[in-house]
Amino acid sequence: MEEKSLLAGEYSREDDREESLRPLSLKDFQGQEEIKSNLAVFIRAAVERKESLDHVFLSGPPGLGKTTLAGIMAREMGADFKVTSAPALEKPKDLAGILTTITASSVFFIDEIHRLKPALEEMLYTAMEDFEIDWIIGQGPTARTIRIPIPRFTLIGATTKAGQVSGPLYSRFGISLRLNFYETAEIRNIILRSSSILETRITGEACTLLATSSRGTPRVANRLLRRMRDFAQVEGNGTVTEDIVRLGLSRLGIDGFGLEPHDREILRVIIDSYGGGPVGAETLAISVGEAVESLEDFYEPYLIQRGFLQRTPRGRTATDQAYRLLKRDRLEPNHDQGNLC
Ligand code: ADP
Repeated sequence: MEEKSLLAGEYSREDDREESLRPLSLKDFQGQEEIKSNLAVFIRAAVERKESLDHVFLSGPPGLGKTTLAGIMAREMGADFKVTSAPALEKPKDLAGILTTITASSVFFIDEIHRLKPALEEMLYTAMEDFEIDWIIGQGPTARTIRIPIPRFTLIGATTKAGQVSGPLYSRFGISLRLNFYETAEIRNIILRSSSILETRITGEACTLLATSSRGTPRVANRLLRRMRDFAQVEGNGTVTEDIVRLGLSRLGIDGFGLEPHDREILRVIIDSYGGGPVGAETLAISVGEAVESLEDFYEPYLIQRGFLQRTPRGRTATDQAYRLLKRDRLEPNHDQGNLC
């Protein structure tokens, strides 16, 4: 596996093995207390009224639990769960095929909903609002539209880029939830839960150190835990200790903030090649050999949250904290810093 994908929140093939770690109930889903308590109310109300849950919009950086939460909602509703992602839906018939075969009260999850094609988005409007789809039969002057009724269902749309979802689509979701990075104590609980499922011994100190290096992201925490388990097995006595975590993190190039070499490279390029910024996302992405999508989705949110990077209308700028991290002197004050988008 490439080193840089170890910390990225995005899904990788290795995460197939993570299925066993996925919480199946709200009770097992750690953190995000406000979201959980509100959801518990909405789910209970819908179940008591014997109705489907209102459509739910989930946003936030990758690896924070959007897919997991959608599965839990279906489970707690006692409903079928269908999963797809917008890039997999090519043509209207792909979406119509799913919508016409779902059962009443099903939960239909569309990941990366900001990437839905316009024609498919139009189809979703009537599906979400009127529980019907418009289908065109025939061609040319004889073409006509028929309305096909579909069962009442719950659409859960997830995105890492809430700002790219159109107003008309967004307005059709009755519930909108934004997942934020987890606190260290919450990540600690996730690591403890996962190590018990994986039957891996881990000391309290090791767990805390690992939690602080996991970018506030459950998927990263689980991946790092598996790597530390490897180090413990080969370089230690099988128990993940603080020394093993220190060794493992240093071998993987991860520092005490949870930053990996690629994060530091992004900051280094902004400082050394662009005088601390501002530099546009596309230019920066090319300079660090990264796709704009992964720069924006996987690296920037955490760098911003930890105060190393700022987004301004004219581009990305490195903060004083980034200069300190990389031991660079700031040559002149950066006037764009207070000018946030
Ligand atoms: P997303 O859809 O936001 O990219 P996922 O729902 O796929 O993220 O979560 C990634 C992994 O992290 C899951 O496999 C699950 O094991 C773990 N996870 C996510 N959120 C939590 C949580 N709140 N508690 C425990 N584990 C979690």
